[in-house]
Amino acid sequence: MKTYNRKPASFVKGEGIYLWDDQGKQYIDALCGLAVTGLGHAHPTISNAIKEQSKTLIHTSNAFHIKTQAELAEKICLLSEMDKAFFCNSGAEAVETSIKIAKKYGNEKNINNPKIIVMENGFHGRTIGALSATGEKAQVGFHPLLDGFIRVPYNNVKAVEKILLEHNDVVAILLESIQGEGGIIIPDNGYLKKIRKICDKNNLLCMIDEVQSGLCRTGKWFAFQHDQINPDVIMIAKALGNGVPIGACLAKNSAADILTPGTHGSTFGGNFLSTRVGLAVIDIMEKQSMNENAKKMGEYFQNKLNEKIGNKKSVKEIRNRGLMIGIELVDECINLAETALEYGLIINVTKGNVIRMLPPLIINKTQIDDIISILDKIID
Ligand code: PLP
Repeated sequence: MKTYNRKPASFVKGEGIYLWDDQGKQYIDALCGLAVTGLGHAHPTISNAIKEQSKTLIHTSNAFHIKTQAELAEKICLLSEMDKAFFCNSGAEAVETSIKIAKKYGNEKNINNPKIIVMENGFHGRTIGALSATGEKAQVGFHPLLDGFIRVPYNNVKAVEKILLEHNDVVAILLESIQGEGGIIIPDNGYLKKIRKICDKNNLLCMIDEVQSGLCRTGKWFAFQHDQINPDVIMIAKALGNGVPIGACLAKNSAADILTPGTHGSTFGGNFLSTRVGLAVIDIMEKQSMNENAKKMGEYFQNKLNEKIGNKKSVKEIRNRGLMIGIELVDECINLAETALEYGLIINVTKGNVIRMLPPLIINKTQIDDIISILDKIID
């Protein structure tokens, strides 16, 4: 189906931060398949994990114990300070899981039509539940959507408080730590902390979507850690498999025990292959301190961007946290991703005028300089 406007490049090989197309042309991948291949393409340890596990056992179903799944759950819960994990295959599925947790949490409190507060300009995926939580633009043509979402402006605590004065059936707040598709919108310091406080005061589940921002991208394991909070529910996916499909919904305290046998599941979710790869990914991220590299390289990127392109008249604002980077231009620039391809650079444009980059976590200063020199030319 024609669900994508594909760009004129067909890649046949990748290594580290580079890709090659079928004409032999080399590109810098500053997008990572949208925050997925953080450890770079064809990482030898990941390739080996895929090879070894596929030779041993790929799938049995969740009717049986899966050792690698239990190990990954333990590891990821330790890093996120969560109690339990449910594994699935994508970000949208992780979000669906969180929505089911919130609805059941409400039903168990005898709330017939539980509401979830979500954010304007947010993005949570394309399945009907996740789409219902997503900002309105992506919803056009798909009504009626799932009931029970109340939308408020992002980074606005008062708007949340107002809703809670008007409704007594709200059970959860679902939001991204940083809005990714929405244009790399970074909330004020302390915003997430205030949201957490509101959740505590009103017995709401604080549900944070880290699908794009999680797993070292912003310089910490999870972006909400910049605000030193502990959510009740976290969604991750993308970078966890470095390209092998995997997602997870993590939960803490009573939220971790809401889903019970028979209430949720997935055929493929958490199989031997994807969880073995997930373990390898986390191991590499830990051993090579990818969060530290993302922090350092993010600072270098920010300084260099400000220095080289910050003064251009066409540049409105440069925003980043670690290696989650947005350059907002004054004018629409949707064709810039294609222009960048001509120069051997892979970027993306979101919201019509925001150049988005989610470069590999393994990137170094020379490679950042190469990216910026291309950006310098194409923005002009
Ligand atoms: N949540 C966020 C914040 C995302 O950025 C995305 C995808 O871009 C999703 C959820 C959906 O993930 P997936 O495409 O794996 O379903």
